[in-house]
Amino acid sequence: MTSTGNVTVQTDVVIVGTGFSGLGMSRRLCEMDIDHVVLTKESEVGGTWFLNTYPGLCCDIPIPLYCYRDVPFLDAKRLFPTGPEINRYLINFSYEYGVRDHIRFNSEIDEAHWSDEDHCWHVFTTDGTEYVAPVAISGAGALHIPKHLEIDGIETFHGDVMHTAEWDHSVQLAGKRVAVVGTGASSIQVVPELVGDINVAELKLFQRTPPWVLPIGNPSYKSRGKLKHYAYRLYWYLYQEALGVALTKQTWILPFLQRWGIQNIHRAIKDPVLREKLTPKYPIGGKRIGKSKKYYLAIADNRTTLVTDSINRICPAGIVTIDENGVETLHEVDVIIEGTGFEVVESYRHLRLFGINGEDLVAKMDRVGLKAYKGTMFPGVPNFFILLGPNTGLGHNSVILMIEAQIEWVTKVLRMRDRMKGVDALMPNHDVSEKHNAELQAAFEGTVWTKVKNWYQDPRFGTIPTLWPWLVGKFRKQMKHVRREDFDFIISR
Ligand SMILES: Cc1cc2nc3c(=O)[nH]c(=O)nc-3n(C[C@H](O)[C@H](O)[C@H](O)COP(=O)(O)OP(=O)(O)OC[C@H]3O[C@@H](n4cnc5c(N)ncnc54)[C@H](O)[C@@H]3O)c2cc1C
Repeated sequence: MTSTGNVTVQTDVVIVGTGFSGLGMSRRLCEMDIDHVVLTKESEVGGTWFLNTYPGLCCDIPIPLYCYRDVPFLDAKRLFPTGPEINRYLINFSYEYGVRDHIRFNSEIDEAHWSDEDHCWHVFTTDGTEYVAPVAISGAGALHIPKHLEIDGIETFHGDVMHTAEWDHSVQLAGKRVAVVGTGASSIQVVPELVGDINVAELKLFQRTPPWVLPIGNPSYKSRGKLKHYAYRLYWYLYQEALGVALTKQTWILPFLQRWGIQNIHRAIKDPVLREKLTPKYPIGGKRIGKSKKYYLAIADNRTTLVTDSINRICPAGIVTIDENGVETLHEVDVIIEGTGFEVVESYRHLRLFGINGEDLVAKMDRVGLKAYKGTMFPGVPNFFILLGPNTGLGHNSVILMIEAQIEWVTKVLRMRDRMKGVDALMPNHDVSEKHNAELQAAFEGTVWTKVKNWYQDPRFGTIPTLWPWLVGKFRKQMKHVRREDFDFIISR
């Protein structure tokens, strides 16, 4: 990496992000001895696992699968690692593999453009630094822009409001009246903590759609050595892929899982009206499946009230709901916790991105929707890669498997470019990419993800731009090879 003056840094590759994607990519470039810079807006590595610190944060993928293939996660205590454990694993990784020396912390990118003059990406951070490199790789993730409540009067609320992804540990919750809005994956983890160790005085849980929650606890998992790690990894890989089969092809299996979910409700909840309110009316898997033995017990706690009426407005004293007869009820609370998830499909809007001839790529995505070639490159956008990009998310297995397959594919594409004399840049062909995406969207037909409104979908285009509709094995197979005929090339000047 060479610095010319205070504000311009020239290198071969700029990577964005220090979560699993950015760190894994950087390590690979270190191995290939490629000069690069890794930018992150945070002050530490970890991405998701650095940003989210809410009580109860835990991974829902078994530990042998939620780590890099050749860097076993050997020191965790339980099968599903906690947020701090994963963050520690990534910090250790960043030291051990020499990645840390390439990282520029507290460097938030706000604009990147491709230059038709020098055939490089020019990436700008908010502190005024410009990074210039022929190749840009985004590991910016899709779950880091919190979706906040947009409800009239929220600014008048007298107490604290915090999103689960922006947990304010200075806010005292013990003995307080607390509202949790939303019943997604984070809320399922945080709710038992609030009535458990945190010991709130009252909990109001505002639910729009009940989640499916299976009674899966977090058994202890001792360090087992590498051999056992790989045996368990194979076991869990097959187990998770089997879930993928149920969600996509063999949906007759789902009622059995649903029965298990209903048993979980009935075990803790005795009131038939409450049971009914908590029972989902869509097939299991349509939204991310929760795993908890404590969630319904927390709802059964006499300090908890489940509120299913719509939120109408927020006033200084609390949250006002309205029932189907138009009758308003005030729920007085001291703290509001937003368990409202993230801006996922539209997360690309938070950057200014320009391609060939200064084309505004954000406006283009607004026009054509979010879609990529093999989830990793965009037609018309040279030498730009995105890890965990469109249609690489999973509803059933570990995304680290997807990220690692992408990293290997990126290195193969870069090698191909290097072998081609006179070629500066490459990008997927538009028609090839369209065909790939048409097949992909067609594969969603009949899957559970189309059966209920969820954050995987883009209602603007009637597509699912987030998930991979097949098994992980199919993605890994697809990413094994680079087809030269699928690309367009930019020739050196
Ligand atoms: C609360 C929560 C729980 C989750 N639980 C699970 C789970 O149980 N199982 C599972 O498989 N997945 C889970 N996920 C998904 C998780 O995000 C992925 O598994 C994985 O961690 C993604 O890694 P990543 O490196 O691609 O992105 P991230 O971890 O999101 O990292 C993104 C990086 O990009 C950087 N960045 C973004 N924008 C900019 C910018 N403009 N300028 C500079 N830097 C930028 C950030 O600083 C960060 O370093 C969860 C996500 C959340 C939010």
